[in-house]
Amino acid sequence: MSPQINRHVSAPPTSPPFTSHDIGTTEAHWDCYLDALPPLFPPTLTITTLSSPRAVVVAPHPDDEVLGAGATMFDLCRAGWDVRVVVVSDGDNSHPGAEGLGHQRQLESSQAAAWLGVTHPVQFLGFSDGNLPGHRQEISAQLLDILDGSALVIGPWRNDGHPDHAATAMALEHACACAILAPEACVWQYAIWAWHWARPSDFALERTGAVDVSQAAQHAKQQAIEMFQSQITDHFGATILPPAVLSHFRRSREVFWC
Ligand SMILES: [Zn+2]
Repeated sequence: MSPQINRHVSAPPTSPPFTSHDIGTTEAHWDCYLDALPPLFPPTLTITTLSSPRAVVVAPHPDDEVLGAGATMFDLCRAGWDVRVVVVSDGDNSHPGAEGLGHQRQLESSQAAAWLGVTHPVQFLGFSDGNLPGHRQEISAQLLDILDGSALVIGPWRNDGHPDHAATAMALEHACACAILAPEACVWQYAIWAWHWARPSDFALERTGAVDVSQAAQHAKQQAIEMFQSQITDHFGATILPPAVLSHFRRSREVFWC
């Protein structure tokens, strides 16, 4: 998640301008939508020849990976998957000019990943927060080197309504098309801001599914979210993730476009 607090986001045509402090769509509006989604499963049954299948989770900013897929990451780790986390920017534009923010956000992301069971260090690509649309080709090239052999790739949804999320999604889509993924690999995309600005009627259901995560994973995800103090408190300025936004990330199902 990042910046755009108290100012409008330049968003794709499908999303209106929004800020994280708008009233937004309440979580209750999504209940029926979530119940209707078909269950989604990692491709474990089709890759029996791999002892430790690899999943790569890509985030535009530190925290998107946990908000979008934290519980799934936890369950994958517990199931023996080799989970890697890649964060494209250090997120220092959530509070422009705040000293030490980029380092703090990297630390938060690293601690959260470790809490969820990820044993590899989080890989930070170091692109400039807020400027990812201008670096799609470079991002895609770096992701390509990381993706080879992966059986599951998880990243942001291109229609999420945030320019950095859209740019990362498009860079990742291109990298996936060029990479040598494992046989029958899956590519899933998570939404962050769309839960806030969109309505259920805005979404097509055909390409959407939901992973039913364990109770332990739900609990671990909430604890991981608490580690993003720079975003959920006003320590660096305005709170980026107020309770209404966070309410979308306490679900028992994590939704992915696939
Ligand atoms: Zn983000």
